[in-house]
Amino acid sequence: MHEYSIAYDIYATSRRAALENHATQVKTIYVDFGDLAMVNPEQVEFLFGAIVEDDSLYNGFKLNCRTIKTKTRCSCGYEGSERFVCPGCGHLPEVVAGREIVVTNIEIEADE
Ligand SMILES: [Zn+2]
Repeated sequence: MHEYSIAYDIYATSRRAALENHATQVKTIYVDFGDLAMVNPEQVEFLFGAIVEDDSLYNGFKLNCRTIKTKTRCSCGYEGSERFVCPGCGHLPEVVAGREIVVTNIEIEADE
C-alpha cells in the first residue's frame, strides 16, 4: 500500500522533528505532493489520521497538503510542463519537479 507507507513516513518525520524540539503538541504539518507522485493526498490524510489516533502529540493536528505541478526542462533551454516531447526541439525533457512528496514545515507547540 503506497499511500500507507507515505503516511507512515510523514508520521515518522514529523514525530522525530517534534521530539527534537520538545514539542507537546503537533499542530500543522505541511506536505507537498508532486502531481507525478501518483498519490491521492486525501487518502494519505485519512491514513495519517488513523496512524496518529492513539498518539497524544497529534491531538487536533492538521495536515496541510499542497500539490506541486510538474516542471520539466530541456537542454535546448525549454522550461515548462511538457513531460514527453519538448516543444522546442522534440527531445525528451528532464523532470525537475513533481515526483516528490516532501514534508516542508511542521508547526508545534512546546513547553518553554
Ligand atoms: Zn528541447
